[in-house]
Amino acid sequence: MSATQPLIRMEHVGKNFGTFKALHDFNLVVTKGERIVVCGPSGSGKSTMIRCINRLEKHDEGRIFIGDIELTDKLKDLNAVRREVGMVFQSFNLFPHMTILKNLMLAQKLVRKTPKDEAREVAMHYLNRVKIPEQADKYPIQLLGGQQQRVAIARALCMKPEVMLFDEPTSALDPEMINEVLEVMTDLAKDGMTMICVTHEMGFARSVADRVIFMDAGEIVEEATPEIFFGAPRNERTKLFLSQIL
Ligand code: ADP
Ligand code: MG
Repeated sequence: MSATQPLIRMEHVGKNFGTFKALHDFNLVVTKGERIVVCGPSGSGKSTMIRCINRLEKHDEGRIFIGDIELTDKLKDLNAVRREVGMVFQSFNLFPHMTILKNLMLAQKLVRKTPKDEAREVAMHYLNRVKIPEQADKYPIQLLGGQQQRVAIARALCMKPEVMLFDEPTSALDPEMINEVLEVMTDLAKDGMTMICVTHEMGFARSVADRVIFMDAGEIVEEATPEIFFGAPRNERTKLFLSQIL
């Protein structure tokens, strides 16, 4: 991947569920180090868009590139995409029957073929980074929600991805645990990680985002810096949405 090439390129992307257009003529270019916050009403296609980027969903129209890899049916090595694109979901999706450490080692083994000792070292490095190394030998159920989500972030980081996708990572958390997850995400942003975050945490958006994208009905309705987006939104749908969440 060359330095100037966009990490993610979505060109006229469409995604249909039956006759329903979940994404319509969707265009997005993300360059290295950019932090993008995506917001919009429920059902506007945010998750579908994120899921198309790491091919959890297949798009029906347009083109998607991750670096120089185009996502098509002919793509043989999906692992090559999954290595570059880390994903954190609303529900933490940890394997319940495995310890935290094993959760962090598994994908490294499967996707990167990392030897066990190295995988353990990498896992501990990222558990330290999300500030819960002492939980390594526990099972997910023994952890609080915020801790589980930090583990999920560490697990994604173990792949050493080029870009991290977050799909409403704090929506399932009790309010008192939201900040610890946002802090980890803010640290990542400070370290220069390229990120696309679907979130309605507007404090986070204001302090971290280079661009805020507002989606409605499968399209980008407005795209602006946080200052303009929150201070002087132009579109009526954006104004209505902001009046409901702020
Ligand atoms: P958001 O994340 O913005 O809430 P989604 O991307 O989850 O929106 O969904 C966009 C629309 O696509 C919704 O109307 C949803 O019902 C529909 N949708 C999402 N996934 C599927 C699916 N697997 N099958 C059918 N419809 C779906
Ligand atoms: Mg969603």
